[in-house]
This record gives sequence, C-alpha cells and structure tokens, in this order.
Amino acid sequence: MELYSLTIHELYRLLKKGEITSKEITESVFKRIGQVEDKVGAYITLTPDIAADMARESDEKIKRGNISYLTGIPAGIKDIMCTQGIKTTCGSRMLENFIPPYDGTVIKKLKDCHFVITGKLNMDEFAMGSSTEHSALRITRNPWNLETIPGGSSGGSAAAVAADECIYSLGSDTGGSIRQPASLCGVVGLKPTYGRVSRYGLVAFASSLDQIGPITKDVTDCAIVMNVISGYDPYDSTSVPRDVPDYTQALKRGIDGFRIGVPKEYFIEGMDPDVEDAVKKAISLLESIGADVIEISLPCTEYGVAAYYIIAPAEASSNLARYDGVRYGYRTKDGKDLLNMYCKTRSEGFGPEVKRRIMLGTYALSAGYYEAYYKKASQVRTLLIQDFEKAFEMCDVIVAPVSPTPAFKIGEKLADPLQMYLCDVFTIPANLSGIPGISIPCGFSKAGLPIGLQILSKHFEEEKILRVAYNFEQNTTYHLKKPPL
Ligand code: GLN
Repeated sequence: MELYSLTIHELYRLLKKGEITSKEITESVFKRIGQVEDKVGAYITLTPDIAADMARESDEKIKRGNISYLTGIPAGIKDIMCTQGIKTTCGSRMLENFIPPYDGTVIKKLKDCHFVITGKLNMDEFAMGSSTEHSALRITRNPWNLETIPGGSSGGSAAAVAADECIYSLGSDTGGSIRQPASLCGVVGLKPTYGRVSRYGLVAFASSLDQIGPITKDVTDCAIVMNVISGYDPYDSTSVPRDVPDYTQALKRGIDGFRIGVPKEYFIEGMDPDVEDAVKKAISLLESIGADVIEISLPCTEYGVAAYYIIAPAEASSNLARYDGVRYGYRTKDGKDLLNMYCKTRSEGFGPEVKRRIMLGTYALSAGYYEAYYKKASQVRTLLIQDFEKAFEMCDVIVAPVSPTPAFKIGEKLADPLQMYLCDVFTIPANLSGIPGISIPCGFSKAGLPIGLQILSKHFEEEKILRVAYNFEQNTTYHLKKPPL
C-alpha cells in the first residue's frame, strides 16, 4: 500500500504509532506527483523544498509527542489563498508573479498544526468558471477521464485529491466551486456556512458569497479539516463568533428518524439520466438506513442562476478594481499616461471570462440600472433564503444532485458562457442563502465518471450534513474507488 493513497485519519494513526514519518508520506506524495502530474496538471506551483522542510519540522514535533490530526500531512492549496513567500496567482496573468507577504488565516491555522504544503492548485481565473478551463496558466484534466474537465473553479484542488497528488486540499466556493469539482472528480467537498471559516487572505471574488472549505478523500477527513479551519477571526468581520463543535463527534451518530427533504425543483428536464438515477438510488439508500424521506419545494430555484450572475459579477467588478498595475500584480510595459497604463494593464492582465464579469457587474451597478438589476437580484436572493427557511421547518437536511451532468469534454462549453453558467444551477442557491453544503460520491455514470450527492442544512448545522454523509459513506464503496491513471 502506497502512503499517498491513504486518508488523513489512516496516516495519523500510523504517524502516532511511530510506524511512518511525515518525511516518508511527503516523499510518497511527491513520487505520485512525479508519476501523474504530467497527465493531470493539477498544480500551478509545486513546493517540494518547502514541503521537505515542513515535514522535517513536523517529524520533530511528533517525536516529542506533539501531534494533531493534520501534523505532517501533505496538503495542496487552491491558488487563491495567500501563502507567505509562495506565489499566489489566482490562475491569472495579473498575479502570475505575485508573492504574498502574509499567510491567510486558514494557512496560519494549518501551519499551527504543522501541516506540509505540497503546492498551489490550478483554478479558473479569479475563481470564475466551472471547468478550470478559464485558468490563464494551464489546463487541468479529470483523473477519471483525461479528455474531460475536472470541474471548477477548484478543479486543481479536486483533481489533485482524486489523483492522490495530495492527501487533502482546500478550495473556495462562491457558486459551487468546491462541490461541483468534488462531484465531478469523485471526492468529498464541503462549502461551510458563510462566516464559519475566515476569508482573511482569500483573494476576493464575490465577498458576500465566497467561502473556503476542505476537499478530501472521505467524510471523516472532511470533519477533521473542518475542526481546524473553522472559527471566528478578528481579521474577517464577516466571520461569526460562534463555538466550533468537534465535527468528528457528529459522525458517530446514526440517522434514524432523520427527515430528509428532496426538492422537486432539483429534478429538472435536461438532467443527465445517469445523474438522476444515482441520486435517486442514494435517496433510497438513506431511507433504507433509517431516514424519513419527504418531498419539499424550493420554488425560486429557477431564478438562482440569474440572480447570481448579477450579484457575483457586481461584487467582482468592485473587488477587481484594485488590479490597476500600481500597487501589485502585472503592469503593462508601455503605458503612455496614467489612464492608458490602467487600460492596457487590465486589457493584458485579465482573461476573457474575467473581463466579461467586470463588464456585466459594472453595467449592473451603474446609475440608472442599479434598481433594475442589482436591487432586483438582491430581492430574489431574499426569496431564495425564505425558500430554505420554509423547507427546513419540514426537514433536517436537503438532499439533491450537485451537477446536472457528469464531467463534460474539454472545450465542449467553452464557447458558450451560458451553458457553463448553468452547471451551477443546483449549487448556487446555497451560496446566495449562506447555508452549508457537501458533495459526496454517490455513483458512476455509464461512461465511468463520478457522480456526487449534495446534502444541505440550515446555517451552522454542518454536523447534520456530516452525519448523513458519513452514514451514507459507511454503506457504500464509491469513495474507495480510484481513477485509472
Ligand atoms: N461557476 C461559478 C462561477 O463561475 C461558481 C464559481 C465559484 O464558486 N467560485 O461563478
């Protein structure tokens, strides 16, 4: 058994017993990267030297009996989280050579546990996309079928975990970017409640929607990482001062009598039959292990994508105004005067999808249109929140598909932004309402591509999600399958 193929909790046990070292795990992971990274392309930056140093330090800690779950375990980080001294590109030419002078809060928390960083993972430029094809720096392939996309925007983070190129990773989710790639790559991905995890040091896309979360090989690992990264942070005024439960404790309980809501609006026409089939089978399985399944309605679902594509670009257009070539990031070589320098810097530094969003957002916020677009979209957002509030009066969690289709072919949707946007029809409502959601493996398509099951709960009820997810996982083997690399 190769160490790179194990989970956090399996490696922790071996480390604790002194049977292996972090150095051995780290070498095993880099050996794996050497074998498959050429095919998968998950990383933008690899940090083998830093990893070796961190592994040495963590082995010393462990020798002195100072070990926690993440000590000495190699992780990859989506290249949107600031890492001191390590390039943080956001998949963009604009930040291609940007080296942050500080660590984001989540990175600091992982460092406090003496984790090992393997490198920075590929993503759609500034997290805008659903396939990682919008990365300006490289292409990432789905380990299950190298002709297909890994999902996005945290495509590198999901592909790396699926391909065993790290033991776990962090992603960020603004409209589905943790759950959708996790679903398409057959791994576990959780978007926490808005405010549960600090966004300090997360490069902003749409600040009222962005949230960092774990991508892992199983549900236990997800709970372990959540224990570490969650909690209030004085550096993020939107993080919530609320106690963090021990998420691993939630896994121990069964789901007898749990009320599971199935929203009828999530089984729409045009949905891939393999996805529908796998999700319906998953719901039956949950019923067979004790859950009560009821039909619920989330009537405003169909307006989610439209509202999101006003609100997210509006916030992005404001957040991305800082890339002007003056303070940091790319600057054009031949700006004639200040205005010309701004224009050229931004024309050359941003890719087409980012420009599209900046234009959409600027338009939606402009005088005379604000009421018609941004304000309307915000009202729709409130309706979506009310949909969930009503639904959760009837059930403990909601179970639904993650993505309407399994992974699609590279290039298939690139020319049609609307098709790409529709990938997130089932994930966007959770971001607009701030509730948490997970994707766990629940089957495979006829073509052998992974399919994910989404579980949603009320704000700050991640424990319920993890509990249902764990019970499902215990009764299935999908999470144990490895891609044919
Ligand atoms: N695919 C969605 C978008 O393009 C969501 C991205 C995300 O969650 N970061 O905006």
